[in-house]
Amino acid sequence: MASELHRVVVVGGGFGGLNATRGLASADVKVTMVDRTNHHLFQPLLYQVATGILPPGLIAPALRTVIKKQRNAQALLADVYDLDLDNKVVRAKGPDGRDLELPYDTLVVAAGASHSYFGNAHFAEFAPGMKTVEDARYLRDGILSKFEMAEMSTDPAERAEYLTFVVIGAGPTGVELAGQLGELAHKVLPQEYRSVNTREARILLLEGATAVLPPFDPKLQKYTQKHLESLGVEVRLNTMAVDMDHDSITFKGPDGPETVRTRTRIWAAGVQASPLAKMLAEKTGAETDRAGRIPVNSDCSLPGRPEVFAIGDMVSLNKLPGVAQPAMQEGTYVGRVIKARVAGEAPPEPFKYFDKGSMATVGHKAAVADAFGMKFTGLIGYVMWGFIHCLYLIGWGNRLGTLYTWARAMWFSNNRGHRVITFEQAGDELTSDLPPSGRPAPILPAKRPAAEGNSAAPSQLANRTG
Ligand SMILES: Cc1cc2nc3c(=O)[nH]c(=O)nc-3n(C[C@H](O)[C@H](O)[C@H](O)COP(=O)(O)OP(=O)(O)OC[C@H]3O[C@@H](n4cnc5c(N)ncnc54)[C@H](O)[C@@H]3O)c2cc1C
Repeated sequence: MASELHRVVVVGGGFGGLNATRGLASADVKVTMVDRTNHHLFQPLLYQVATGILPPGLIAPALRTVIKKQRNAQALLADVYDLDLDNKVVRAKGPDGRDLELPYDTLVVAAGASHSYFGNAHFAEFAPGMKTVEDARYLRDGILSKFEMAEMSTDPAERAEYLTFVVIGAGPTGVELAGQLGELAHKVLPQEYRSVNTREARILLLEGATAVLPPFDPKLQKYTQKHLESLGVEVRLNTMAVDMDHDSITFKGPDGPETVRTRTRIWAAGVQASPLAKMLAEKTGAETDRAGRIPVNSDCSLPGRPEVFAIGDMVSLNKLPGVAQPAMQEGTYVGRVIKARVAGEAPPEPFKYFDKGSMATVGHKAAVADAFGMKFTGLIGYVMWGFIHCLYLIGWGNRLGTLYTWARAMWFSNNRGHRVITFEQAGDELTSDLPPSGRPAPILPAKRPAAEGNSAAPSQLANRTG
């Protein structure tokens, strides 16, 4: 039975999906936003969770909270597995495995992207990437556990392995992670460890291109590399990871292949569109590109399916990069298109992207920014970066909380306040390179003594603590 109100189902509550939902706040529609997490994740600050600067809650507000004042919208926690375009139904599984059918009049798919290992899927086992809160917490546990192990280790070779961190990919995420690892090892942790000198840590940043931050201006690239090197980061350009296992990585650069013993490899090298892009392509006869993205019309609808829109990281449109601004602007735009259609008004002009520039931090109080046609580096770039990132966080509480946490961590105490790990988490991480979500079966490194009264598997504990 058709409902009275026009039903819009939005798949994904990330940058694209949330902006589409918000864009429909004053429209005569009923919006159901379905996401496999209960939060809107501000991915650009994930690296700060991974390095103990920010707690996850500040960058991942509950979707329900975000849309609580939008009476025409509802949030559902479910995993979408089928988009039935002929019957206009989205099929999803609830957390307990129950089947949900969500009928729609208009569908917006904004399911984002995940890691791409460029045909080396087995690397995923040894070099986790960072896309979710769980990934970031897992990396943080891993990084901190390695320093703990180095403190305990009496064998210099083993200690060196624990203190060697290899980041693969020198785009903004890789640069930001490597910079913070440098800060941790060289500036924050040395005073706290007694047996090990954390300044001995070796941080390698591998990049296949000829410069770090490949899409940025050469001046900013040079500054970034120099600043990273001042933090003790070894930058290897024209270098590709070719093999890895639990204790090492082999990469090939201009001087030939080299194998380095390490317990930590972090993947920051590539992205692949959500499998829902492929599903939509198969159902509409479209072809995805090499990154698995589906092409869309200039109003973000799918060819031959005007009632289905796809936006953000999972689409290719006007060669736009897979970053937050295109997803946000497409979301807002699609909201306007749907609103006009439902009101029987003329559609807006085709989607036009407004480039607001790009920026990345390079460790503490230093960043590069390309905005307003100008290039900024150092503290000025860092202040701009901080202002913009705070502005786009959701909710004043999160903005103020983030500013306070930054001030405390970086200006007043030179510490990282969110470094909570436990024996179980450390053990869990040290026995497997896969995050809890990606493992075939729980791995129990050591049983807790019964007297401690907790029989939960370490992987479950890891999920709860944060
Ligand atoms: C570590 C990292 C750092 C980044 N840094 C920057 C930066 O500094 N600046 C910048 O501009 N961009 C940055 N980006 C890129 C930016 O975050 C993305 O371009 C942006 O999030 C894309 O928005 P989206 O809506 O397409 O996807 P997302 O924001 O990823 O949202 C997709 C949503 O869909 C949900 N979903 C996926 N599949 C399903 C399913 N089957 N069922 C239900 N829900 C599903 C996901 O849970 C997610 O909430 C970064 C990305 C990462 C990972």
